[in-house]
Amino acid sequence: MVKYLQIKSTDASILEKAENGGAVTSILKSLLELKTVEGVLNIKKGNDVYDGIPTYTTNPDDLINTAGSLHCAPTMISDIVARYLKDEVIAVTTKPCDAMAIDEIMKRSGINRDNVFMIGLNCGGTVRPTVAEEMIRLFYDIDPETVVSEEINKGSFIVELEDGTEKSVKIDDLEDEGYGRRENCQRCELKVPRKADIACGNWGSSKGYTFVEINTPKGEKIVQDAIDNGYIEVKEPSEKQIKIRSKVENIMIKMAKKTQKKQLNTEANEFDVFTRCLKCYRCRDVCPVCNCKVCSLEKPYFNENSNEKPDPLLMHGVRMGHMSFSCVNCGQCEDVCPMEIPLAKIYQRVQLKYREETGYVSGVTTEKPMIYSGDKEEIVE
Ligand code: FAD
Ligand code: SF4
Repeated sequence: MVKYLQIKSTDASILEKAENGGAVTSILKSLLELKTVEGVLNIKKGNDVYDGIPTYTTNPDDLINTAGSLHCAPTMISDIVARYLKDEVIAVTTKPCDAMAIDEIMKRSGINRDNVFMIGLNCGGTVRPTVAEEMIRLFYDIDPETVVSEEINKGSFIVELEDGTEKSVKIDDLEDEGYGRRENCQRCELKVPRKADIACGNWGSSKGYTFVEINTPKGEKIVQDAIDNGYIEVKEPSEKQIKIRSKVENIMIKMAKKTQKKQLNTEANEFDVFTRCLKCYRCRDVCPVCNCKVCSLEKPYFNENSNEKPDPLLMHGVRMGHMSFSCVNCGQCEDVCPMEIPLAKIYQRVQLKYREETGYVSGVTTEKPMIYSGDKEEIVE
């Protein structure tokens, strides 16, 4: 099996809109047109670059509207697969956290791996939309609404304006001031989604190409089908390009581990912050891994005589017992908590402790986690 390829679309309109070589859009198009899949789930730009909308299509002509990367779209799409598309054969674009969440749901029998073609995207991190707008105002001295596109390249966050000019600021400088990537992304160690059938990115690639790592026989077949049917052209990367890619990946992993030490060792992680909880259940509802058919927190044994939800400590104890070992550090719980409880930090700290004790890496280890119980196979229908 060829491990690495540089891929370029043969379609000029895709190349014009794509982030790199348009490999992702072209392969998605080939999957739909060759009827390998029934539909494609990915992200498209809404009103502006801060607005990433999950979109499902069965029409190959729609895909041109989804080309390009949205770094200010932390949207997770894995739970959409489990909740609404598990009976379809689909292709889905997956950042590493999406791929890890899909893997965890698969272990709970919520998604059938045979039905899903995972088109992975390497990821250095996402920026919260509201933070992006504020930092563009402050650091770039421009109206965020005048930004027509953004990209992250060589350690800088770059914005392009309506008149074609670009402005760029180093991500380190933004993050030193509390802006830049979401904190969970800064701590994320998985930069290349190797559980996906292919993993696509720009590190190490020649200009105008997407650097693609082929991870599974399914991945190999879909790339070959796209070549055979004229959707893409390919060339092999040089040894030097492969080394550059690996070097950047390793630097990113080292930086993430360093940030974990810094961010996970603060007083703010103490469990007493749970007393602030309003019991709105947003953290549970947004969690891409939490998909039980009947949530234990809704069961009558918590409070037989009233509709009261369990107290916050009990609620978070149950949630933690059920899924902290499977937490993929996507950060969604922390993003939506109205009480600003540092949930992602607390859960990642527990997952890392579990990892240390058992060797289980959420979304990566193939076997089920040790304290997994049959109950969790009760996935939502
Ligand atoms: P295109 O043909 O342009 O297709 C892009 C596809 O990605 C589309 O299907 C689109 O719907 C989907 N998409 C866009 N935004 C998102 C999103 N937020 N979540 C899920 N799907 C999305 N590569 C690296 O090598 N290093 C990095 O540090 C890196 N960071 C990234 C960070 C983010 C948030 C994203 C989305 C991508 C990142 N990539 C990174 C991947 C890179 O930007 C390109 O997506 C990849 O090289 C494929 O290029 P392409 O031209 O083949 O894709
Ligand atoms: Fe409590 Fe925050 Fe979760 Fe709401 S989102 S239930 S306030 S922890």
